[in-house]
Amino acid sequence: MKKHNFSAGPCILPQEVIQKSAESIIEFNNSGLSLIEISHRSKDFTAVMDEARDSALELLDLKQKGYQALFLHGGASLEFLMVPYNLMKVKGKAAYLDTGSWASAAIKEAKLFGDVNVVASSKQDNYNYIPKDFLVPDDVDYFHCTSNNTIFGTQIKEFPTTSAPMVCDMSSDIFSRVLDFSKFGIIYAGAQKNMGPAGTTLVVIKEEILGKTGREIPSMLDYQKHIKADSMFNTPAVFSVYASLLTLQWLKKMGGIAAIEKLNIEKANLLYNEIDRNPYFKGTAKTEDRSNMNVVFLLENELHTDLFDSMCKSAGISGISGHRSVGGYRASMYNALPIESVQLLVDVMKDFESKI
Ligand SMILES: *Cc1c(COP(=O)(O)O)cnc(C)c1O
Repeated sequence: MKKHNFSAGPCILPQEVIQKSAESIIEFNNSGLSLIEISHRSKDFTAVMDEARDSALELLDLKQKGYQALFLHGGASLEFLMVPYNLMKVKGKAAYLDTGSWASAAIKEAKLFGDVNVVASSKQDNYNYIPKDFLVPDDVDYFHCTSNNTIFGTQIKEFPTTSAPMVCDMSSDIFSRVLDFSKFGIIYAGAQKNMGPAGTTLVVIKEEILGKTGREIPSMLDYQKHIKADSMFNTPAVFSVYASLLTLQWLKKMGGIAAIEKLNIEKANLLYNEIDRNPYFKGTAKTEDRSNMNVVFLLENELHTDLFDSMCKSAGISGISGHRSVGGYRASMYNALPIESVQLLVDVMKDFESKI
């Protein structure tokens, strides 16, 4: 039986993407060959890479606006250091907003390159809110933030306006909501949260912000080299890029980001309303900062854990245990999760209430 997959990542993908990418492993494009045994320089694959890059820009409404989309290796975690390598001047400065474990992992890497100004942090409150009263200084090389905090279930609803380029780790909410993406100098996202299987990272870059650091950058870490090579500087993660393309095509068919955002809001309202209504559960994130992707909640009484867990298990609900740093539960509701799965979880919560 197919389960209801609330995993935080790697996570649920549209069923048709699973189906089609599985077929491509057996035979790709009626070529008599598998996707994973053809040259990445073959016409069949370069067409995949070109369309994936183009679709990403199209969905983000960034075509013809001076942006490039790349599909790189190394996960979002490698971007934590590629960003300072490519944007921080020698003896330079950068500003960071510390809203969670991933944000602080990015800060740790940036400190290897120069002066890091953490403009605000919600660490003292176990990252249960998004700091809002902060100023980004004008004299920094860039400002870095994390749009959605996968572990703590908070999401930035309003981004600051900065004179320095704004860099955003959107790993866990890319393509989930409409934003003015042209406010950002760099957007990056590991594929495995809302786009595809692990193995590739989407990096969207406003080209004019590059080439200003005076640093020597190793080739594999140099965005300009990847742009020049059309994201084929070395062998790309062909399967992950292809499955990501299929997800982007699926999203376009669904009506793009605006259409999926509506569904995401419906799913989030459905679950948050139940958490707020049901006396046996409580949310952990400050209401105004709650994430529409990762919903983090606790039982009022931990002694009921076994009962709730076994009820979820027999309903076929998978992947909702919370991250060890928060405990409790985390229901991740990425683009591909159908609202029926959320309704089922809500039904189980109601049923649990009646059993206590
Ligand atoms: C999962 C995650 C990461 C780490 O991604 P990797 O691709 O495993 O390096 C970074 N940032 C955020 C916001 C994440 O959710």
